[in-house]
Amino acid sequence: MAAPDFPAEELEAATQLLQDLLRVDTTNPPGNEREATDIVARHCRSLGLHPEVVGPHSERPNLVAKWSADPAKRTERPLVLSCHLDVVPADPARWTHPPFSGHHDGEYIWGRGAIDMKGFAAMGLAALTRLVREELPINRDVIFVAVCDEEAGTRHGSEWLVDERPDLLGDNPEYVINEVGGFTIHQHGQRFYSIQVAEKGVAWLRLTVEGQPGHSSLPLKDNAVVSLAKAIEAIGSTQLPWHPSPEAERYVRGFTEPEGGIAHKLSPLLLHPFWGPRLLPYAVASPSKRATVEGVLRNTANPTCLAGSPAINTIPGSASVDIDGRLAPGQTAESLIEELTAIVRPVLGENYKFTVIQESPPVTFTSDTPLYREMVETLKQADPGSHVMPSIIPGFTDSRNYAKLGAHCYGFYPLQLPEEIDFATLFHGDDERIPETGFHWGIETLTGMLRRFLTTDQ
Ligand SMILES: [Zn+2]
Repeated sequence: MAAPDFPAEELEAATQLLQDLLRVDTTNPPGNEREATDIVARHCRSLGLHPEVVGPHSERPNLVAKWSADPAKRTERPLVLSCHLDVVPADPARWTHPPFSGHHDGEYIWGRGAIDMKGFAAMGLAALTRLVREELPINRDVIFVAVCDEEAGTRHGSEWLVDERPDLLGDNPEYVINEVGGFTIHQHGQRFYSIQVAEKGVAWLRLTVEGQPGHSSLPLKDNAVVSLAKAIEAIGSTQLPWHPSPEAERYVRGFTEPEGGIAHKLSPLLLHPFWGPRLLPYAVASPSKRATVEGVLRNTANPTCLAGSPAINTIPGSASVDIDGRLAPGQTAESLIEELTAIVRPVLGENYKFTVIQESPPVTFTSDTPLYREMVETLKQADPGSHVMPSIIPGFTDSRNYAKLGAHCYGFYPLQLPEEIDFATLFHGDDERIPETGFHWGIETLTGMLRRFLTTDQ
């Protein structure tokens, strides 16, 4: 699908830039994104842009580079292209090629961050490079952003930027293009592209259980650690109820629509609070895709961090577990606690409490915008015969912060993936890698979309 006008040497330079970024270890924690930010800053300067590098920590900066529209042509509010440069940890023992090697095997470029999301950093810069060199007469400012600290909660990155320097983001940008969407999903012989328009919320909770403290050489009955273990077992073995939202409905229908027949007829039932959980295993065969669909239909609550006694020979008076709760649209930390209370009360009686460590609500962006329609058209043209639908993701991205500026935020990181590559298993998974041809296809697709959108008055 190579656009004839995209210079091959610029595609090769994008591969090289991605490899350079992958070779910097930005594992978060601690992040240390500075060296990667420097690479992006040098690239922006080579285009004649003047990147600002700002943040609360010198080793963890955020970069913002504005490509300004000619004031005489500027009729629209800014568009932000956003990526994060930090990555989640990788265990080299589990990888075929070292996770910070940027290894290129002729087909794939390997490395932690290839997909999530240094690939988009290189893609966005390649698109910017092409359009700046073409001197495209843009009708709005384009703001390229590379933040730190997305993977650990966004506090030093986009959250800081939105709270402290919204001026750098144009104060009130109209659109943000960010991860997670635009990649090929293969399902029952069809190709789908989802554009992310919604994210689940976060409710990080702590469950604290009270008990009788004492010396652990004695046979004590009321041990808080044992009670906590029973509560965790109950939470782990109970499926929380379905909350079919309009966002989830559009996503599930989008998947089943082109198939017609049984799957499409089943789709209303998949959303049904009673039938949905029972039918899902038959409707979606792949476990990772099933987890994604289930994840958007209900709250989830995964126990992660445990705390009990500081000493092996002391029974603590209390024990606690931190629970990573994720909220379906319309849900709150309070409503999740109600659901969990119904599970733990029969086990614990009254000797427990839930506290909220952190909460951020689910976010939804309208798909009724010119940019959304342009993205749909672009994907359908770039991969004829494919299907495009709006999606909701179970996790969060920097978009939850940009939403506070009033921007419509979309996950649009076009990436053509072969059938044997399942995006969900590469995202934070072992052997993360990106197919070079699909990456170049994404650069051309993103560039073409921006070229049209930035010169069409809405
Ligand atoms: Zn990411």
